[in-house]
Amino acid sequence: MDHFALRGGVMHAEDVPLPVIAQEVGTPVYVYSRATLERHARVFRDALAPLGDVHLAFAVKSNPNLAVLKVMQREGYGADVVSGGELMRALAAGMAPADIVFSGVGKTRAELLLGLEKRIGQFNIESREEGRELAELAAEMGVEAQATLRINPDVDAGTHEKISTGRAENKFGIPLVHAREAFAELAGLEGLNLRGVAVHIGSQLLDLSPLEAAFEKVGALVANLREAGHNVTHVDLGGGLGVPYKAGENPPSPAEYGAMVARVTKGWGVHLTFEPGRVIAGNAGVLLTRVVRVKRGGNGPPFVIVDAAMNDLARPALYGAWHDFEAVEPSGERMTANIVGPICETGDTFARDRECDALQSGELAVFRTAGAYGATMASSYNSRGFVAEVMVDGSQWAVVADRIAPETISDAERVPEWLE
Ligand SMILES: *Cc1c(COP(=O)(O)O)cnc(C)c1O
Repeated sequence: MDHFALRGGVMHAEDVPLPVIAQEVGTPVYVYSRATLERHARVFRDALAPLGDVHLAFAVKSNPNLAVLKVMQREGYGADVVSGGELMRALAAGMAPADIVFSGVGKTRAELLLGLEKRIGQFNIESREEGRELAELAAEMGVEAQATLRINPDVDAGTHEKISTGRAENKFGIPLVHAREAFAELAGLEGLNLRGVAVHIGSQLLDLSPLEAAFEKVGALVANLREAGHNVTHVDLGGGLGVPYKAGENPPSPAEYGAMVARVTKGWGVHLTFEPGRVIAGNAGVLLTRVVRVKRGGNGPPFVIVDAAMNDLARPALYGAWHDFEAVEPSGERMTANIVGPICETGDTFARDRECDALQSGELAVFRTAGAYGATMASSYNSRGFVAEVMVDGSQWAVVADRIAPETISDAERVPEWLE
C-alpha cells in the first residue's frame, strides 16, 4: 500500500498535488512519501516480531537519499552499506556505527579501514582474502572486527539474472563446500571475531522457496560449524523480498516471509539480521515526468516522449523492468503507446505497446514504484544533469536532493593547457 492516489482527479503524494511539485521544482523529479516509507518499515518490523530481537539494516543502495535514511533511522533501522560512500551517508543520517553492516565483494583496504575506524557493527566477509586483510588491519589497530562469513548457497533466486547473487557462478560469497574450511581459518585470526554467517541470494524475489532453500542450507552450516567447535551467535539473512511492479504480480507479503523465517530458523539460537531495501523503498516513490510531445505517424503506436530518460530511471533499460505509467490528471481516455525518453539510444524505452492513460504534450505523468533503485542509479548521460528528489510528509514537502545542472558537472572537467 502506498500514499500516491487520485483525489479530485489529480494524483497526490499524501496531501500534496503532484502538479504543485512539478510547477515549483520542475520535471523530471522523484517524489517520495514519508508515510509510505514508515508504513513499510513498520510492516516489515511487525512481520519479524515473532523472531524476537532482530537487527534491521536498511539496504542503503536501494535509496541512499539522506532524508530517506533519516526516516529509516527514526524507525530504528540501521544500515547495510556496500561502499565507503554509503557508510558515510548512514553515519550522516545519524545511524549508530554499531547498527551498520558492511557488505560487498570488493571492499577496498581504505574502506575496510574506514569501517574499522568508525567501529561499525559487522563486516560481511566475502572471501578468505578479504577476511585475512581485515584481520590484519584490525590487529594493527588493536581492535577486533565483528564479522560474519557470507556464503554462496548456490540456489537460483528465480529473479532477473543481473540481480541474482546466490548462484555458484555469481561473484558473491564463499561457496558452501569451502565454507567450513574458510570459517576455521578466519575464526583463528587475531583481529577478527567471526561470529556467524550471512547470505543474500538476490533481489525482487517473487517466491519464498529459493529463500527458504538458502536459509535451510545456512541452518545446516550453522549446525556443522558448531559441531566443529565454533561459536556461532549471528546470522544475517540479507534482503531480496520483491514488490509488485505491475497488476497480477503477487510477491510474498512480509508476514508470509516472517512466518517462513520463523519456521526455518526455529532452534538456531542466533541473533538475526535482515537487510531489506526494495520492499521498504520501492513503492514509496514515483518518478514525476512531463510529456515533451507525442510523435505519431510511424509504423506502430505513437511515441509518448517524456522528459525523464534512462539516465534518471535505469531499470527498464537495464533489466527490461516494468513500471506502471499513469497520468497525473487522467481524462478517462486510454491509448496504446511506446513510452520513451529523449536520450539517443533505442534502449531509452520505458514501455512498448503499453496501454495507458491518454496523454498529450505538456501533461504530467508518473512512473510508479520508483523509490528503490531509481534516483540512486541515475547518471548524467547525454549531459542531462542529475534528477531532483522531493519528500512529502502530509501536506508539507521539501526538496531533498537538488537537481544538479549539466554545467555543475562540466565545472569539474578541465581542458589541459596543451590542448588550449
Ligand atoms: C542489494 C542488497 C540488499 C537489498 O536487496 P533488496 O532486494 O533491495 O531487499 C541486501 N543485502 C545485500 C548484501 C545486497 O547486496
